Amino acid sequence: MIKTKIKTTCPYCGVGCGIIATVDDPAGHQVSIQGDPEHPANFGKLCSKGAALGDTVSLENRLLYPEVSGKRCDWDTALDAVTDGLTRIIRDYGPDAVAFYVSGQLLTEDYYVANKLMKGFIGSANIDTNSRLCMSSAVAGYKRAFGADAVPGNYEDLELADLIILTGSNTAWCHPVIFQRIRKAKEKNPSLKIVVIDPRRTATCDSVDLHLAVKPGMDGLLFNGLLSFLAQTGALDKVYIDAYTEGFDSALGSAMAKAGTIADVAEGCGLTAADVEQFFNWFAGTRNVVTVYSQGINQSGSGSDKCNAIINCHLATGKIGQPGMGPFSFTGQPNAMGGREVGGLANTLAAHMELDNPEQVDLVGRFWGTDRVAARPGLKAVELFDAIYDGSVKAVWIIATNPVVTLPNADKIKAALKQCELVIVSDCIEATDTMDLAHIKLPALGWSEKDGTVTNMERRISRQRPLFQASGMAKPDWWIICQVATRMGYREAFNYRTSADIFSEHAALSGFENDESGLVRDFNISSFAGIKQEQFDQLQPVQWPVTDKVPDGTARLFGDGQFYTVSKKAQFIAIQPRPPVNAPNRQYPFTLNTGRLRDQWHTMTRTGLSARLNAHKPEPFVEIHPADAAEYKLKTQDLAVLESRWGSMVARVVTTESQQPGSVFVPMHWTDQLSSRGRIGALVNPVVDPCSGQPESKQTPVAIARYPAQWYGMILSRSPLIIRGIEYVVKIKGNGFSRYELADNTQPQHWRQWLETIRSKPVENNDWLEYSDPELGAYRSALVIDNRLDCCLFVSSTPVLPEPAWLATLFAQETLSRPERLRLLSGLPPMGGEDCGRIVCSCFNVGEKSIAKAVKTFGLNNVEEIGQRLSAGTGCGSCLPELKKYLDQNTAADRA
Ligand code: SF4
Repeated sequence: MIKTKIKTTCPYCGVGCGIIATVDDPAGHQVSIQGDPEHPANFGKLCSKGAALGDTVSLENRLLYPEVSGKRCDWDTALDAVTDGLTRIIRDYGPDAVAFYVSGQLLTEDYYVANKLMKGFIGSANIDTNSRLCMSSAVAGYKRAFGADAVPGNYEDLELADLIILTGSNTAWCHPVIFQRIRKAKEKNPSLKIVVIDPRRTATCDSVDLHLAVKPGMDGLLFNGLLSFLAQTGALDKVYIDAYTEGFDSALGSAMAKAGTIADVAEGCGLTAADVEQFFNWFAGTRNVVTVYSQGINQSGSGSDKCNAIINCHLATGKIGQPGMGPFSFTGQPNAMGGREVGGLANTLAAHMELDNPEQVDLVGRFWGTDRVAARPGLKAVELFDAIYDGSVKAVWIIATNPVVTLPNADKIKAALKQCELVIVSDCIEATDTMDLAHIKLPALGWSEKDGTVTNMERRISRQRPLFQASGMAKPDWWIICQVATRMGYREAFNYRTSADIFSEHAALSGFENDESGLVRDFNISSFAGIKQEQFDQLQPVQWPVTDKVPDGTARLFGDGQFYTVSKKAQFIAIQPRPPVNAPNRQYPFTLNTGRLRDQWHTMTRTGLSARLNAHKPEPFVEIHPADAAEYKLKTQDLAVLESRWGSMVARVVTTESQQPGSVFVPMHWTDQLSSRGRIGALVNPVVDPCSGQPESKQTPVAIARYPAQWYGMILSRSPLIIRGIEYVVKIKGNGFSRYELADNTQPQHWRQWLETIRSKPVENNDWLEYSDPELGAYRSALVIDNRLDCCLFVSSTPVLPEPAWLATLFAQETLSRPERLRLLSGLPPMGGEDCGRIVCSCFNVGEKSIAKAVKTFGLNNVEEIGQRLSAGTGCGSCLPELKKYLDQNTAADRA
């Protein structure tokens, strides 16, 4: 059988890696994934998440049929219900009583029609996107400085730079393929310096030249200090400032006010003066500098100002617009940029136009053939859900996102949706925390079925191509939206046959009246206006603008010093750095930082389906400095309750010196679907940046205390379990089984009976092995059916339970050997068997115990030798920082 190879794009982060998918079995949804060696974003590399995409395309947990009020129905019934509901509320309360909340997961074509319907025809701008949570401050920063939301450079600049500053970015985990490119660049050019600015010592700090563990939230002060230093040391590019910029004196005056000396900057940022001076000298003395900034900068009550503080330093030295230099915002999502292009944010209009610009509102209205274009910006994400909570927005259509998990003060979001008159949710996933609250459920295509375009964080448009036919009754998001638009009476404006038709119109709008007769707009892909299906199918990755003048796209912007402001000059913004809005206090003494993990994506609806991606960090955890842990009587493996003014959660404790004293870190991914108390969004303060509306997700004051568990448990089970009434439950996908981590402060009276009640499958031919020591609070049992392990339970009064790695391997076996059966309740392999320990390398399933053993046995000294011996680190490379850290720590321990 000839297998089909399809070029497409990874649906996870903003790197936008190209993929070659080989469809092995279309009916069985089997696909092999490789990096596309020709794609300019990744040249064949993929990270652990991209490489595991084949694990996530099954029909497990797919929403396959429309539902209205809990009943499965046909599309006509569902679409009529959506249309009737929206129309009634608009008629009774006006267009601002309805809202859309959409997502950077959408394709550009889906995004385009959603915006067109809401802003152009319903006549409200109440459509916002989850990209508000990750990069709206970067958008505001670019717009204020350049007059447009325009990313100046590209990935190649990182390879041409002599200094790379990574600030507020755990690039190694959040944009792993780019981190691999940076590592390679450093190998080729050892004089390349890398500086990381981050309160945490993350995996990105591996092999860097300087880590500035800045006080949480003080990056603005640091970059203002840099601007002052540049002025004081004669490092300004005065020719550039005079010719191409405005507002320098005011920006410098602001910077000098509080950041005029290295000593002041060092004190305010919690750094040593020597480190600050080193960083400033490197910036001043290096021509090719790229400053990467991401969520650590953006997710702040002053995120926009921080972005501009960074951009100010590049403008002041003319380090922009040429190869190897520039400020570079890294986005979180695969199509955050596409969303920006179509006006996905509530305060923007399609094709990088503005709702508060009457000429552009008129232009878009004429192009779309409507006089109903929204007259003013809509509600930004946090405001929008506040309006749902207070009842002024009465209907919301949520598309491809999970706000009950990801928005700050997430319990309030849940309450808002519970009391909302009409909640419509479109998604490819059946069970999500948000879908659970939907009145109308609309099944959308999943990644492997979608057909359209995405734009990555270097402005590169790539195709996502379908690998499989639509599953069940799932439909493209653009089709669902256009069907509703048609039913609302706008058939003519939404009469598209394919996503290529929509892309063509989007391209045409970008070029419409976009010439020297007016104010030229940055976003212009007019070369694609009128694109035919065949050309769309063949579309190669390309960076916008793409016009008759630049038909092959544009690698860099601003090389000519011309910007998109009225004066065509870049604008310095005077910044007054502000600390986080809510400071720690006696009741909530720690600063909570949230972020992503290496192997998970957003709310785990897809990566949670992959056993290998769940092996690295299987549970919600809180990282805390050892000194703080000692003060609060916490040890690694304990459970802790974290609490803020807004909510609480329970997480596994990890003590680490990577964390600053006074700060804790918790990953953002866990939901109610996979954990009973793991939603960190419930704690996050709903403070937003006044300019961008982006929430301050990196700094919330919290308290921490040991969770008073009477018992800790772990179950591995082939069949799913229904566990109720236990306070701490985390469900982890394994290969052929599910693992449950448990804890509570009251315990079932009879363990085996309890286990039998939570199994959904009745036991027929049962064979229980059991061990019990009530004195020690220990209980262990295993159910072996026909000599095949079906389920095992381990209970202890302490959090120390057997490693699950060896037990997990038994679920891949059809029968147990006698020695395995004898060792089952010990949780330890028989003599000669191997327990690989916690998985470090997801690609080759290599655990920390195997690594430790190989390092000791063979005297391995570096990651290359580990790779040669165990293959670890030779796949996607995402685990290389962890391998290096292990070697560094153990070499140090050997020396001690
Ligand atoms: S870096 Fe990883 S998650 Fe991001 S696009 Fe590439 S493969 Fe996907």
